[in-house]
Amino acid sequence: MTILAKYTQLRESYHKMAAIGRDPFSVQFDGILSPTEGMLNGRRTILLGTNNYLGLTFDQSCIDKGVEALVEQGTGTTGSRIANGSYTGHGDLEKALADFYGRQHCMVFTTGYQANLGIISTLVGKDDILVIDGDSHASIYDAAKMTTGQVVRFRHNDPDDLYKRLRRLSDHPGNKLVVVEGIYSMLGDTAPLKEFAQVKREAGAFLLVDEAHSMGVLGETGRGLAEEVGVEADVDFIVGTFSKSLGAVGGFCVSDLPDFDILRVACRPYMFTASLPPSVIATSLQALKRLREEPGLRLRLNSNSRRLYEGLRNLGFQVGPVANPIVAVALPTKELAIAFWNGLLEAGLYLNLALPPATPNSLALLRTSVSAAHTPQQIDTAIELFAQVGRRLGVLPGLVQAAE
Ligand code: PMP
Repeated sequence: MTILAKYTQLRESYHKMAAIGRDPFSVQFDGILSPTEGMLNGRRTILLGTNNYLGLTFDQSCIDKGVEALVEQGTGTTGSRIANGSYTGHGDLEKALADFYGRQHCMVFTTGYQANLGIISTLVGKDDILVIDGDSHASIYDAAKMTTGQVVRFRHNDPDDLYKRLRRLSDHPGNKLVVVEGIYSMLGDTAPLKEFAQVKREAGAFLLVDEAHSMGVLGETGRGLAEEVGVEADVDFIVGTFSKSLGAVGGFCVSDLPDFDILRVACRPYMFTASLPPSVIATSLQALKRLREEPGLRLRLNSNSRRLYEGLRNLGFQVGPVANPIVAVALPTKELAIAFWNGLLEAGLYLNLALPPATPNSLALLRTSVSAAHTPQQIDTAIELFAQVGRRLGVLPGLVQAAE
């Protein structure tokens, strides 16, 4: 028996899925033309599944900063910050993020995944308790696996359930860290953060909010859900990523906790991996500047999100509860979702196929993410393609009759 034998079942179901059409988990673009278009199998394809919320991946000022850093500082740091030292850009970006969030401290990580993994697993020690939402991102679940503390899950977006669980733990002497997300990555739903903040206050717990999908999207100045609902003072740690609104790669955590910087010599996913290359730091710093200086990007994004959400909902598709930039369409079966995804791809629309067990409530989802860079016409084309494929596959029976 080979060491990979345990993946036999996974391999079989993967092959079965890929046999229906293209393999949704190894799409390879021939070229990327813009934040919203790529070439795929020789065809111009609309990109509607890239988390490129502000469309900054081709922003000229970001590219210029990146090129400048690349030429002046080289291709990479070739080591971690504790071993190889930091470049000025690392510190500049940390200062800029701390300033943006109005916090004392910031730590930059090589990915958002590592930010969650590192911060959460290091904050929660063996006598503490990590309390997470049941629909948490894999990086939070993996932090839960890595922590030496106890882990408690509460029902997704349910403040009463969180309250009950924290009350049961009230005699426990350790610290409690509650972790939620601003916008959830599969269905695009937002956390009831006001209610969570109240529960956290009453229980004397710490609160961490992962604003990966809400930074640059929600809030008066784009700081995320905590800003949008006015509870920033109750949030002890904000985690975010550069891989979505900032169009690069990397992650961060900001906090006002006085001793926060001690984590730099305690947090293994910070200490034992190479730091971000100067070019990535430079483009992220410039993208943050663009985010702050151009609220119009956020307005365009949100108008595009509403356009797509309402368009799909009006066609009769089952979409998530809120018109956020993540618009997910739930389909009755996995097979139908795979066929639908293939149909859209053939028609020139790329988005994400999300299947159980990676989805909440075992839903089969076509997950889209909207960008400020999409034109209204691109959004309308996407809606029309959904309608065409939906009719062809019989997912929209009412419309089959209407069309005949
Ligand atoms: N948190 C959430 C909620 C996410 O959706 C993601 C990425 N999809 C991450 C963290 C990790 O971000 P990164 O891509 O920067 O590793």
